[in-house]
Amino acid sequence: MSGSVTRIKSKTPLPYELTAIHRDTHDTKTFCFALPDDATLDMLPGDFLYVHATIDGKTVKRPYTPSSMPGATGYFDLTVKRYETGVVSKYLHEREPGDTVLMSGPNPGGHWVDGMAKQVGFVAGGTGITPMIAIIRWILAQSLPVELFLVFANKGEADIIFRDEWDENVREHASFHCHYILEQPPQGWSQGTGRITEAILRAKLPPPSPDTVIFLCGPPPMTDALETTLKAMGHSEQAIILP
Ligand SMILES: Cc1cc2nc3c(=O)[nH]c(=O)nc-3n(C[C@H](O)[C@H](O)[C@H](O)COP(=O)(O)OP(=O)(O)OC[C@H]3O[C@@H](n4cnc5c(N)ncnc54)[C@H](O)[C@@H]3O)c2cc1C
Repeated sequence: MSGSVTRIKSKTPLPYELTAIHRDTHDTKTFCFALPDDATLDMLPGDFLYVHATIDGKTVKRPYTPSSMPGATGYFDLTVKRYETGVVSKYLHEREPGDTVLMSGPNPGGHWVDGMAKQVGFVAGGTGITPMIAIIRWILAQSLPVELFLVFANKGEADIIFRDEWDENVREHASFHCHYILEQPPQGWSQGTGRITEAILRAKLPPPSPDTVIFLCGPPPMTDALETTLKAMGHSEQAIILP
């Protein structure tokens, strides 16, 4: 990155123009927001922004982790799943290109710092993949000497966010490993089924070591249970990174 890049970080909400929307799955879209050509968000991969909105006269905010690569200038992306009864996710899914959305941050989340590990596990449930997208993209784009192990649980095949990218990473990068688990697998499905178990974590993640960290994100009941499992397997508290 050149020295003339402006790095944006703001505690107060700033308006960002929505320039494009891509449909990722039946309920998930990526929203592309404009930054000035010479500007980037001042963040590490895994850090998050707050989206602020006034809905039915009430001000609300929710955290979202940009999925675009840290350091990208001129734009950033948010990848957001729509919940039928969700206040802010529905608000975002109702936006159109040309609309502006108020956001503050970036704020530090469970982020990646170069050199922090040589083996990295990613245990994601559904939309829990979102904080991991920028981290995986960053590590691969920088060709960092890191081995990556993604364990990604979803209800059905149609719910797998950015599946093409993960499958391509498996083909293109010997250091990238991916295992899908589906609660409702289609006929002939050859990967995991049901829920993430200790046996799956033992088989698909790197073993505990001072060079290993595990990013964990998903619905709270899943992350609570798996955090306990990972600790029982010998991963230290500091090695388990939550959003
Ligand atoms: C650090 C951090 C980063 C995040 N980054 C992203 C991101 O990049 N993309 C993204 O899509 N989300 C992300 N989230 C989740 C996001 O902040 C919101 O919680 C989510 O969009 C729901 O907000 P809402 O206002 O639509 O729903 P709310 O109004 O808060 O919830 C209303 C109802 O929606 C349903 N609901 C909401 N959340 C869930 C859930 N997780 N599982 C099941 N049902 C749910 C429930 O029925 C709930 O009662 C992140 C969360 C954190 C903590």
